[in-house]
Formats: sequence, C-alpha cells, structure tokens
Amino acid sequence: MKVFDVIVIGAGPAGVSCAVRCRELRLHALVLEQGVVANTIADYHEGKKMFGVAGFFQGSPDELVEFYRRDLVRSQVDVREGERVVSVKRVGKYLEVGTEKGVFRSLAVLVAVGIQGVARKLGVPGEDGKNVHYALNGLKKYARQRVLVVGGGDVAIEAAVSLSSFGAKVVLSYRKSEFFRVKELNLEQLEQSSVEVRFSSNVVEFKGKKAVLKGADGSLDEIAVDDVFVLAGTVRDTKFLRDIGLKVGSDLNIDYDEGTLETTVGGVFVAGDVTRERQKLIMPAMYQGFIAASCVLGYTAKKKCM
Ligand SMILES: Cc1cc2nc3c(=O)[nH]c(=O)nc-3n(C[C@H](O)[C@H](O)[C@H](O)COP(=O)(O)OP(=O)(O)OC[C@H]3O[C@@H](n4cnc5c(N)ncnc54)[C@H](O)[C@@H]3O)c2cc1C
Repeated sequence: MKVFDVIVIGAGPAGVSCAVRCRELRLHALVLEQGVVANTIADYHEGKKMFGVAGFFQGSPDELVEFYRRDLVRSQVDVREGERVVSVKRVGKYLEVGTEKGVFRSLAVLVAVGIQGVARKLGVPGEDGKNVHYALNGLKKYARQRVLVVGGGDVAIEAAVSLSSFGAKVVLSYRKSEFFRVKELNLEQLEQSSVEVRFSSNVVEFKGKKAVLKGADGSLDEIAVDDVFVLAGTVRDTKFLRDIGLKVGSDLNIDYDEGTLETTVGGVFVAGDVTRERQKLIMPAMYQGFIAASCVLGYTAKKKCM
C-alpha cells in the first residue's frame, strides 16, 4: 500500500493551506474531503460577501473557493472529494485512515474538519413546518415574501440583509437586547437595510404562515410569515473526534499541544476551527494549516529515521 507523509482530513482553508505548504516542504500529502473543496465556504448563502480575508475584500465566496481549487491544481496536491473519513488507527509506525470507500496509510494525519455541526433548533411547536428552514439557499425566490430570520450572529444578520436586498420584507428576531461580537461592517449594512430588528424577542410557536414572538415583558405578537430561517448557530458534533481517539473535554475542545499542534494520539495533528483558536475565521485557519505543515515535517523526519 502506498504510504503518504501526511493525510489531511478536510479541504477547508486549514487543510488546503497545510497541504500546499507540505508540497513546498517536499512532503507527500493526500487530502480527503467528505464534500467538495472548501465545502463550508461553498455552502455560504447566495449574495454573501466575504469579510476578513486579505485579497478578497467584500468578494464572493465563489472567488475564494476557486482560489483554493486553483492552488491545489497548481501545487499538484492529491485531493479526493466525496471521501468521508470514518476511522484513524495506528498500525505499527503508520496511521491507517479509513473512509467509506477505502483505506489509506500515512506517517502523520492532520485533522482539519472544522466545527460545522447540526443546526441549532428552537424546540418550539410547529418548527417542523415546510416553511421553516435552517439554511438559506437562493435569494430571488424570496423577493416580496414576508420572511422571519431568527438569530443574532453574523450569519443571521448577513442572511437578513441579503434577503432584504432582494426585496423580501424581513423581520430579524433576536433573543438578546443587543448584538454581541458581530462584525462592524455587518451592523452598518443592517442599519442601512430595511430589515426590522426585534431585540429581546423569542419565537414561541410557528403556526404555518404565522409566527408567535414573545417580548421581554411577556407580551405575545403574532406576525405573518411566508418563510422562516432559523440561523441560531450549530450544535457541535464531536463524535468523529472521539471515534478517532482524540481527547475531547467537557468544553468540547480537543486536547493538543499548543506548540506542536499534536494531539494526545501520536502523529495526529489539528488545525483550523477545530482547535481552541478563539477567532473561528478563515485567516487564522489558514495560518494554522501553514504552521501545521512544519510540525508534520518535524514529526515525519523523526519517523523516517526510525
Ligand atoms: C455562514 C458562514 C459565514 C462565514 N463567513 C466568514 C467570513 O466572511 N470570513 C471569515 O473569515 N470566516 C467566515 N466564516 C468562518 C469560516 O468559514 C471558518 O472559520 C473556516 O472555514 C474554518 O476553516 P477550517 O478549514 O478550519 O474548517 P472548514 O472550512 O469548516 O473545513 C472543514 C472541512 O472538513 C470537511 N470534513 C469534515 N468532516 C470530515 C470527515 N469526516 N472526512 C472528510 N472531510 C471532512 C468538511 O466538509 C469541510 O470541507 C463563516 C462561517 C459560516 C458558517
């Protein structure tokens, strides 16, 4: 069986940066991606503008995905899309990585799977209605529709602004009395938009084309809605991380060495959103992927001498 220096699990910004840097360091990398290259970014909603990525000011996610694809082709990194990793096992000095389709072998593994979990639900009656969605796909179809967006993070605000710019009549319901840790640019765009923000409001029920909002004073307000987008974050799923033997604390963080990015499983490294890095953003993920390549180089050099 062919042995790679490193198998990178996940072709997001962290995984791609690591793989390309590995190429420069003359390490033979294989990238296994369950979806498509930069899957998380490719899934951003239509009309979304990028923030915080040098070289892509207010650019489209598609441009960024294309950038990663081009770099992978140019550097001739071996990337397999549609390969979901399900296991990582030690076999002598190697690590054996199993996907739903086959088995691959390497000296080191980089876990760069991000933190995309399952959408957080509100747990209120009527939430399983056909017009209640957890992701925004397409904008034009919501023009002139009455739309309720639930959530108060950047994702909810960006979706509300995009929907309103395509002619939807949008109400943004947020349970807190003000926004926290939200990008300034998003707040500016929200203020300039026609989105109606309802702070301190909680959805208590969906009734088909109506949603019931409870205010801070306990009052109930029934509003007419054609569609609802619940964009209240995701619940992290750490099963995969535990399944491959990583130690995950009660705070859902993986146990790893900050200096080497190596986990408690020898030869298994981490980078990107899956780490304790507080800024869950593209640039920090790319930086960590870049650093991880050097950490892998140090580890594999020692293994090759054994
Ligand atoms: C809606 C939204 C908008 C955002 N907007 C911005 C923005 O404008 N600017 C910004 O800087 N950041 C933004 N972010 C955050 C940014 O997307 C992340 O910080 C970044 O993608 C993290 O990179 P990563 O490589 O660590 O993880 P990801 O990009 O999440 O990549 C992880 C990859 O691993 C794959 N994977 C997972 N499990 C497996 C498995 N078992 N086997 C194989 N592959 C697997 C996934 O399919 C995915 O492609 C946004 C996030 C969201 C959700």
